[in-house]
Amino acid sequence: MSRRLPLLINGEFVASTTDQWIPVTNPATQEVLCEAPAATPAEMEQAIASAKAAFESWKEVPVSERARLMLRYQALLKEHQEEIAEILSQETGKTFEDAKGDVWRGIEVAEQAANIASLMMGETVENVARSIDTHSWTQPLGVCAGITPFNFPAMIPLWMFPLAIAAGNTFVLKPSEQDPMTPNRLVELFLEAGAPPGVLQLVHGGKEQVDTLLTHPDIKAVSFVGSVPVGQHVYRTATDHMKRAQCFAGAKNHMVIMPDANKDQVINSLVGASCGAAGQRCMAISVAVFVGDSKAWIDELKEEFANIRPGAWNDPQAAYGPQISPQAKQRVLTLIKQGKEEGATCLLDGSDCTVDALPDGNWVGPTLFTDVTPEMSIYKEEIFGPVLCCVSVDSLEDALQLVNNSPYGNGTSIFTASGAAARKYQHEVEVGQVGINVPIPVPLPFFSFTGWKGSFYGDQHAYGKQAVRFYTETKTVTSRWFEDDIPASGPNMSIHLK
Ligand code: NAD
Repeated sequence: MSRRLPLLINGEFVASTTDQWIPVTNPATQEVLCEAPAATPAEMEQAIASAKAAFESWKEVPVSERARLMLRYQALLKEHQEEIAEILSQETGKTFEDAKGDVWRGIEVAEQAANIASLMMGETVENVARSIDTHSWTQPLGVCAGITPFNFPAMIPLWMFPLAIAAGNTFVLKPSEQDPMTPNRLVELFLEAGAPPGVLQLVHGGKEQVDTLLTHPDIKAVSFVGSVPVGQHVYRTATDHMKRAQCFAGAKNHMVIMPDANKDQVINSLVGASCGAAGQRCMAISVAVFVGDSKAWIDELKEEFANIRPGAWNDPQAAYGPQISPQAKQRVLTLIKQGKEEGATCLLDGSDCTVDALPDGNWVGPTLFTDVTPEMSIYKEEIFGPVLCCVSVDSLEDALQLVNNSPYGNGTSIFTASGAAARKYQHEVEVGQVGINVPIPVPLPFFSFTGWKGSFYGDQHAYGKQAVRFYTETKTVTSRWFEDDIPASGPNMSIHLK
């Protein structure tokens, strides 16, 4: 019997009483690593009730004390970074370097959460009318919920609960059922850092458990990251139940290559940005838009693609790992086949990829298409595999039109030596995160993660100041004191701030 993961309810790791156990597999071998429980309705109810009860005391904990919890947590995460990354590599197949990066990008958000006092500061104006002052505070909402995808099992949960909890909320996390071991470890360390019971709950499962969170009257806000159809369902259902929702969804990210760009940088960046993490990144570059003569570089790009290969998480020569599941691999293969049938030129086909000594892994080799047009399935669908589609256009205007016609708007980049071209692109492109000679422009946590259009449903984005706004309510106080009421003398009062 493989290891069965517990739930975290009211500060205790508890064995679920469910009869539905979800196998968690190593995607490089199909070995079952453990099983995750589909939490029962009673367990979901207990987790939410415990978070609700814990909110009453947690919101009264001074902000500096909440910040200190985050300081301890980020120190523990750093201490355990490699250990967490190893767990993460086992269940996702990510290379060790990539897995460490996944953990690190989450640690940076925990660090930011330690600055919560300044992030929560309100505003004041004196004398809004004669002897009347107005100030605003930010106060926590209550119980918040987070629903996270498989592709960043450390970073994305850490986008959510540290900031929500630092702001004074309590939190119920429902991570992906495909790689729940990493979130379990993150949560263990949060308790070890000194989190009071009930402040963070961890439940496992799929649609049924998510729908409970979306419809439960005691959940005040929902953060979601995942695919487009599920993101739309989560946004519609949560808002229909009068909750705040921020839903980060799928993407199709374009990199525009101007003929004056640095060719070596372009080729190097395209290989890493499209095939890294087996293409399973919401900010992966999946379309290369060659402007004018830059299309002559596609032959060299093909040579570089042919030089990389997937492999085991601890193989230093492996550029990336397997697809998360056999179904995910099959989906990528079907799209590659459709690409060929619909008339694109497949310069390199990774459909029959094998890896020595790992015959059962969900491997897909690097795949390069050219002559791709916007009507083709490989252009329209988020492939989420190591597949790059090359499109050729005549001008920057044409590139802008192509990118702006995409229903997605998560990330994009332009490679050029021209400040004017870069300025025009960053100004006119309808995408939320823009890189200039930077292929994957994921902002650090003092900014926010700002996908647009079909890649995001909501208004306040992840981490940074926007997340603090998302997880808080503003209270505006207008006050007036009458000088006649000042006592002539009174008791000697002193207070001490600890
Ligand atoms: P997914 O939508 O299948 O799953 C995400 C979460 O939703 C999981 O916790 C899952 O259990 C739950 N879920 C699945 N089906 C559900 C349903 N029918 N009803 C309710 N909940 C359901 O996504 P995934 O395959 O785990 O992740 C990959 C997707 O996430 C890609 O589309 C990728 O682009 C996207 N993503 C987006 C961002 C971003 O910031 N925009 C970041 C990472 C991943």
